[in-house]
Formats: sequence, structure tokens, C-alpha cells
Amino acid sequence: LTERLQKAMEKLRRKPKVTEADLRETMREIRLALLEADVNFKVVKDFVKKVREEAAGAEVLKGLNPAQQIVKIVNDQLTELMGEEAVPLNRAAHIPTVIMMVGLQGAGKTTTAGKLALRLKNEDHARPMFIAADVYRPAAITQLQQVADQIDVPVFEKGTDVDPVEIVREGMEVAKQNHNDYVIIDTAGRLQIDEQLMDELVNIKQLVNPDEILLVIDAMTGQNAVNTAQGFDDKLDITGVVLTKLDGDTRGGAAMSIRAVTGKPIKFVGEGEKMEDLDVFHPDRMASRILGMGDMMTLIEKAQKNFDEEQAQETMDKMRENTFDYNDFLAQMDQVTKMGPLENIIKMMPGMANNPALKNINLDPKQFAHIRAIVLSMTPEERENPDLMNPSRRRRLAAGSGRPIVEVNRMIKQFNQMRKMMKQVTNGNMSGMQNLFGG
Ligand code: GDP
Ligand code: MG
Repeated sequence: LTERLQKAMEKLRRKPKVTEADLRETMREIRLALLEADVNFKVVKDFVKKVREEAAGAEVLKGLNPAQQIVKIVNDQLTELMGEEAVPLNRAAHIPTVIMMVGLQGAGKTTTAGKLALRLKNEDHARPMFIAADVYRPAAITQLQQVADQIDVPVFEKGTDVDPVEIVREGMEVAKQNHNDYVIIDTAGRLQIDEQLMDELVNIKQLVNPDEILLVIDAMTGQNAVNTAQGFDDKLDITGVVLTKLDGDTRGGAAMSIRAVTGKPIKFVGEGEKMEDLDVFHPDRMASRILGMGDMMTLIEKAQKNFDEEQAQETMDKMRENTFDYNDFLAQMDQVTKMGPLENIIKMMPGMANNPALKNINLDPKQFAHIRAIVLSMTPEERENPDLMNPSRRRRLAAGSGRPIVEVNRMIKQFNQMRKMMKQVTNGNMSGMQNLFGG
């Protein structure tokens, strides 16, 4: 989570019930977080409204605290807003499938044309051909040619003195003769949308009736991306979007806005300059990226599946009162084991991967069985009174469990550290840990 959001969640976390005022404040933080991620303000407004409605009507989910529930609602709504599922490329009933790349200068049209062609070659054994329809910069044709050479795809070009519409007309003839199954048209861009460019693109569109008009947008342009998308879509009725340069330190807010404003699916994302750096767009991953949540959602979902809320609450109370004993320890171990490897769970928590408090605690899941054996060798009295563990009792445990005495000592030491840590957690010193041990 962003720091801002994390703080808001931290506050909510300690409340058993979320009031209207709490919700309002949280919504304010979410709104700011989205704006920071470069999401368009109108989109944010609608979105927050929707989340608030959803949150107000939400049933209390078992195993999730109010803060987690809100994160989940936000994440689900974000994912839904961005289209839920990846949308595949349109294909023509009869070859060739015609793909027209459009977008502002420098957005990544030529690069993406190459990436897409490589993908089609690799996945469909396709035989694509490029048409060089950017005639305004001599370097544009050379660049396309260089891209094409890298991936071994032919380019149809007529230099810079011919009308682009005419180039496309001739190029289509050549592609048909050669039975190319895909034609990818690399068009010109401008620094801004202008009439002349749009007219030219409309003319090319009318001539070839493309199966796919892919608008290429630089994710780093943030707010401007929305206006660009709107402008191109109004004139050309685009079929999809490719969001490039997501390898930069962008939060991906543009993705959310573009989808919301145009209603057109984002089909691919560019994540580097190399020809291999093109990925299918996954709305759920983008949602996490926008919220800066890492794998938080996976964790929440796991917790939701496996935690028994009542038991978790009981544990929390015990931790707070410092009456957490070996019986609770056993029960918690069982719950945690159900969630999968402990290390993975810890790593998924924001800020937990390198938390010094965890350094001395052995998280090797293989040792769980041994620890269990030792705890099971305790008398009921010992399990309820962790402070009884004197040297002679420890020796007895070692004999009873068949584990070396050093291991028994280590386990007890770890248990005591854990107790201490839990007390800190319940006093609010460490966010995240609560998830692990219940709550
Ligand atoms: P065009 O003017 O729309 O054809 O844009 P280009 O394809 O020429 O790309 C402009 C610049 O952006 C080039 O230097 C590309 O290498 C770079 N570029 C394109 N896509 C990406 C991407 O996904 N990530 C990064 N880091 N750079 C990209
Ligand atoms: Mg270009």
C-alpha cells in the first residue's frame, strides 16, 4: 500500500466496526492515493462513489477486518473497472488480419509493432508484414526497417514522397499476393492531436477497414493519456489500447483512466525496449500496481479462506493480555500451516520481508513438525504456563519428543520472542503481523 493508504488502514484496523465517518475518511485517502497514481480526477470521483456504496452494503466477510475488507472492495472494483479479463487480439475471418498502430509521436508505435509481430510469429507461426505509413520523418522508415530486421519480418515502403493512403493501398496488395496473414500498419504520430493527422488516419481506416486499431499510449504521460485516448477514440473508434513504458516508475493510473473514459480494452502492455517486452494486460495485476499493494490481495484471499474469525479474535485478546500459551501456539501453527509456506506469507506483507523483529525467528516450515512434537510432549499445565520451562522440564521434553535439547531450548526461546513480539503487535507497533497470527 502507499504510505497514505497504509496509515488510513492502520487506523481502521483497530476498530471492530467501521462507522460512517471512518468510511468517509478512508475514502478520502483512497481518493488521494488514486490521484497520486495519476488517475483522472473524474474517474476517481465515480470510482470512490462506487466503492463507498459497495462498502456500505457489504456483508462482513469472515476472517477479514474492516480495513482488509475495504482494500478488497477497492481492489475488486479496480479490477472490474479495468475490464476483469484480458481481451485477446481481434482476428479476421479471412487473412490478412489488419492491425493499424496509432498514437502520438514517441508513444512506442513502431517498437510495439515489432513486439506484436514477434509475438504473433512465436505464438501463431504467423507471417506478418509491416507497412511503413509514417512518411513525415525519414528516420521513421529506417527505424521500422531496423525493428523488422531484428525479428525477420518484411517491410513494405515507398519512401517519404508518397501519400500514406496510397502506400497502404499498395502494401495491402503485396500482402495479399504474398499470403501474409497479418499486416501491421505503422502510422505517423504528432506531438499533439491535430486535424490533418486524424484525417489521414481516418482515410487509412476507411480504405482497409482494420480488424484492430491499436492506440499506443505512453503510460508515463499520466493525465495527458486520458485526453489522448479520448481524442483518438472519438475520431477513429479504436478497438484497443497498448500501454507502453510501464517499466518506468509509473503507477499505472493511466490504465484505469483510459479504460474508464473510452470503454476500450487495454490489450497489451509494453515493459521495456526489447522486442520481447510485451505482455498481455492483466487488470488484476494492474489494480494491485495502482494501489501499490504487491501481493497483498493474495494474502487477504488466503486469510479469508483459512482463518476462523472467532479463534483469531480470541488469539488477539490473549496476545493483548499476554496469556498466549502453548495451546494457542499449537492452534495458530495449524492455521498458519494451512495457508502455505510461512516465509511466503511473511514476504507478502507490506514491510515484513526485512523486518528486524523476524530475524531471530526460525521460519522454516519443515521444523513445524518438530516443534509440534515438542509442544505435544508438554503436560497440560506446562502448556498453559509457558514460564514453567526450567532445565529439568526441558530435558524431559527432549526425551519425550525425541528432539535434541538444543532444539527444545531454541523452540522455547523462539516462543518467548514471539510472545514478546505479539505484545508489540497488538500495541500497534507493527502492521501486518496481525494478519499472520489472526485478527
Ligand atoms: P513511435 O514514435 O510511436 O513510433 O515510438 P517508438 O516506437 O519510436 O518509441 C519511442 C521510444 O520509446 C523508443 O526509444 C522506444 O525504444 C521507447 N519505447 C517504446 N516502448 C517502450 C517500453 O515499453 N518501455 C520502454 N522503456 N521504452 C519503450
Ligand atoms: Mg514510429
